[in-house]
Amino acid sequence: CGIFGVVGLSDAANFVALGLHALQHRGQEAGGIVSYQPDQGFNSARRFGYVRDNFTKQSLMETLPGQLAIGHVRYSTAGSKGPTAIRDVQPFFGEFSMGGAAIAHNGNITNADALRREMIDRGSIFQSSSDSECIIHLMARSLQRDIPARMEDALRRVEGAFSVVAMTRTKLIGVRDPLGVRPLVLGRIGDGWCLSSETCALDIIGAEYVREIEPGEMVVITAEKGVESHHPFRPARPRFCIFEHVYFSRPDSIIGGRSVYETRRQIGVELAREAAVDADLVCPVPDSGTPAAIGFAHESGIPYGMGIVRNQYMGRTFIEPTEQIRNMGVRLKLNVNRALIRGKKVILVDDSVVRGTTSRKIKEMILDAGAKEVHFRIASPPTAWPCFYGVDTPQREKLLAATMSEDEMCAHLGVDSLRFISLDGLYRAVGEAGGRDPDQPQYCDACFSGEYPVEPADMIEKGFQM
Ligand code: 5GP
Ligand code: SF4
Ligand code: MG
Repeated sequence: CGIFGVVGLSDAANFVALGLHALQHRGQEAGGIVSYQPDQGFNSARRFGYVRDNFTKQSLMETLPGQLAIGHVRYSTAGSKGPTAIRDVQPFFGEFSMGGAAIAHNGNITNADALRREMIDRGSIFQSSSDSECIIHLMARSLQRDIPARMEDALRRVEGAFSVVAMTRTKLIGVRDPLGVRPLVLGRIGDGWCLSSETCALDIIGAEYVREIEPGEMVVITAEKGVESHHPFRPARPRFCIFEHVYFSRPDSIIGGRSVYETRRQIGVELAREAAVDADLVCPVPDSGTPAAIGFAHESGIPYGMGIVRNQYMGRTFIEPTEQIRNMGVRLKLNVNRALIRGKKVILVDDSVVRGTTSRKIKEMILDAGAKEVHFRIASPPTAWPCFYGVDTPQREKLLAATMSEDEMCAHLGVDSLRFISLDGLYRAVGEAGGRDPDQPQYCDACFSGEYPVEPADMIEKGFQM
């Protein structure tokens, strides 16, 4: 998901809408905005579909006045059962003593089931099936005397991955979990401030990038007093999601001082060193494979070409929540450039293989178009484990790499060769010259390694075996 918040600018909701539009790649099912205006209180709008189709209408934006607003774009992740219901669309908002608050959450709370049961037993009335709603109820139950302190209280009970943008009647609040699994950055615009999942959304509104919110940090921001920093959690060694670098973030964002594009290009360079193959053409599977393909072509000296063309009017295939839509999705979205492919040995570069659906379809299309050979090169290690921290990977049984070796996957996909970047190669590409530290990995890489930095308590209760 993507989150964005603004304080200290009139018509803050309009800026939030623009920010969410730039974060649309992080979630396309639905979006929502909450704003606060003293004479009206909190207002909210939550809609299915793209930001541009909803939050551009003047009639809607007029209902979201004020200098303080937050927003969220959503895609459903682990634990959600199929397509989103409108009641699960964030931000969530609640009135309780000390005034109300609204929150937008990116990540996944790994002990949400247990917390929900406990609070329902004690009388809480839940409005949604979302794990994120727990935070609001924990805040409402806290005995602290101001809302930021209640939020600290609440978040100390929550486990898992959370980047949160929240608002009270006067304050914008941003928090990252102690491991800093999901991103969150701070920006400055005129007399105002903003919080965003990624820097690309600061660019769209002309905000200046200030810094990242640190893992385990909570910032409380007002237009008058600026940014106040708190550290409510016990310090821990950060474990940022390495998959943000590979796929999830936009290539024009900066993470940890590094250009995401440059990291992806470097992944391609590493991949060409690790898994060279004789061929005539390097093609990306657009768009997610593009920077790695550019790096691969550069390093190998094999020409780069657009062998597959993407229809710009389709969203990300993977994010479509049902199997049926996903299956159609590949054809609706990608087509082969026959004139370029015919008679050639082709290297296809993609970011990941999850179920294998995309790769299988693409291989068929490429062979139909008359390619002589098809070699897959993948910009991440085999995805053998589900993510429980906010990226939508399917159950373990559905992951190709959970049950098959690399050779078996190659045979299953019916390609001439299939190679994945090594974990060490990936770490080098993100800037860790010495590779992965096996004792204390510098990132979360659980979907590749099976080493979960936070125990997924709810899933273990449901029978998941680590
Ligand atoms: P598959 O077709 O193998 O199930 O999925 C792989 C494709 O889904 C890749 O092309 C990748 O770009 C895309 N994808 C989109 N979202 C995600 C995600 O959240 N995780 C992973 N691993 N791949 C994703
Ligand atoms: Fe990111 Fe994978 Fe960790 Fe999930 S399991 S947070 S996708 S690295
Ligand atoms: Mg892709």
